[in-house]
Amino acid sequence: MPAFPAPAANLATACRPGCGACCIAPSITTPMPGMPRGKPAGERCLHLDEAMRCRLFGRPERPAFCGGLQPSREMCGEDRGQAIAWLARMERLTAP
Ligand code: SF4
Ligand code: SF4
Repeated sequence: MPAFPAPAANLATACRPGCGACCIAPSITTPMPGMPRGKPAGERCLHLDEAMRCRLFGRPERPAFCGGLQPSREMCGEDRGQAIAWLARMERLTAP
């Protein structure tokens, strides 16, 4: 599981509806239903629905990684493209 650094000096922000960037860009190394090896970086999670919402939200099968990834201005940026770019950069920086 990548150890994303805690965003520094970030004000709390809300998840942008329809974004889904953090369910696509990062890798997830723990198993989840339908993805026994986790999720490769850059691949859309199987559990992201058409409205970019998590189908596993609130369920025990949802990876701990997902619950730990909180929205922040630094990560989420101004739009989905910025979020994907930031998350992809973090993925590279935390790659083993
Ligand atoms: S990157 Fe931010 S806005 Fe986009 S889905 Fe993740 S938490 Fe929500
Ligand atoms: S399990 Fe849910 S929150 Fe986690 S990556 Fe998949 S869709 Fe996103």
